[in-house]
Amino acid sequence: MRIAIASILQESNTFSPVYTRYDDFSPVFGREAFDRHQGKLTEMGGFIEVLKKQGVEIIPVCAAWAITANRLLKPDFQKLVDCFVQFLSAAPVDGLLLAMHGAQTAAGEDDVEGHVLSIARKVLGPDKPIVLTLDLHANITRKMVALSTAIVGYKTYPHVDMFETGEKAAGIIVRTLKGELQPKMAFAKLPLIIAAENSQTHRGQMHKLRQMGDELEHTGKVESISLFPTQPWMDIDEMGTSVVAVTNGNAKAARKQANAMAKRLWNARKIFDPKLTSVEDAIDEALKTEGGPIVLAESSDSTGSGSPGDSTGVLKHLVKAPLAEPAAIFLVDPAAVSIAFESGVGSTVTMRIGGAFDKKNSKPVKVTGYVKMLSDGRWTARARGYNTGIVTSMGRSVVLEVGNVYVLIAERSAMTVDPELFRSHGIDPAWCKIVVVKSPNGFRAAYEPIAKKCFVVDTPGVSTANLKNLKWKRIARPIYPLDLDTPDPVLQ
Ligand SMILES: [Zn+2]
Repeated sequence: MRIAIASILQESNTFSPVYTRYDDFSPVFGREAFDRHQGKLTEMGGFIEVLKKQGVEIIPVCAAWAITANRLLKPDFQKLVDCFVQFLSAAPVDGLLLAMHGAQTAAGEDDVEGHVLSIARKVLGPDKPIVLTLDLHANITRKMVALSTAIVGYKTYPHVDMFETGEKAAGIIVRTLKGELQPKMAFAKLPLIIAAENSQTHRGQMHKLRQMGDELEHTGKVESISLFPTQPWMDIDEMGTSVVAVTNGNAKAARKQANAMAKRLWNARKIFDPKLTSVEDAIDEALKTEGGPIVLAESSDSTGSGSPGDSTGVLKHLVKAPLAEPAAIFLVDPAAVSIAFESGVGSTVTMRIGGAFDKKNSKPVKVTGYVKMLSDGRWTARARGYNTGIVTSMGRSVVLEVGNVYVLIAERSAMTVDPELFRSHGIDPAWCKIVVVKSPNGFRAAYEPIAKKCFVVDTPGVSTANLKNLKWKRIARPIYPLDLDTPDPVLQ
């Protein structure tokens, strides 16, 4: 048995001022793709683990991951797809395991996953299994369901089960090829966007629904049931929350379970409405609280949600706050990094920082700071969950001390859900009074265990929880919560 494995992952935010390029994926092909993920807690890591145990010959195609931003530019998209085809066509295979996000767009293409699947189908033909893993924030399309044999999504948010999702998909494809499993898939789509801030799976409503899904899997009613509350910031036609169910040979049962779970999600929709705190109130609360750290989650500037990470919405208040203990914040601003590098370690600089990309939502803040550290911006994710073991390259970086505020400024965007971001630059969140993360919920996996309190703060930005503040043009209406009176959907 010979199975190809590939990953092309990016979440899109079609409101972001930053577009995506080929190099943002740091793509590698063939053996290098295998080496990047072997032994790592990623989907590809899970594929490799299971396939090796099963004695399957693995044909690595590619490994590509980019941080969330706006659409991939057209020539760059073509280049990525061409390389994928070249390596997928290199050897005949019995099936394909493909890890994608599920909410990726490119110039002129709202459904990159659907497009990649159509190309993979051309190479593999109509009958060989293709099992697709997706992020919980995938926006499922009819094309994805039609062209794949089975779809398996992350069960967790914060996402801490990338590896397990890969293992599960690999199990499905191996059993399918052995003739033990005949995947039948159904999906139900809702006119619903669920806010990222209040849809964690370790407690609350999403946790309850996920437990119901797990029960269906454990009792064998389904092979897999995935809940996809979607990425909230995509202005495309075929947008909305979905449920995908896969059964062994029973299309009717798959339809029944997908619809039943979708109905539960729909009925619970109001529970997911997020609760935000003003920055001033959150800082006041932090200063009143004994010990720390107090985490301020600036979800409107979430780097994992397509914001550029350049907001001064929290920063402008933080540098004025009467802090007796340190605070830490991450910021993307290439020009500020250049100034600090020219100035050198140990120097004091006065400059304007922030508001580098999203000029509509943030104005730069003038600060005077001490250049504590200059670095190459390379660090390895260590917290259990998001891309654990994978190296992040955020370009040249600087730690600027502005009073008691440690501002970690990078040339390029990075995920902020792992405290290792700060630790790798000499800042331990554990001894900070306030830590600012640019994340709606993903930060909770690593930060809740060490945080005294967490507040999701309300600032403007392209990944705001206030979805009505964004200029929607193409999304099919009505859709909740943009249209609060959206009628109950009629499921197939
Ligand atoms: Zn996600």
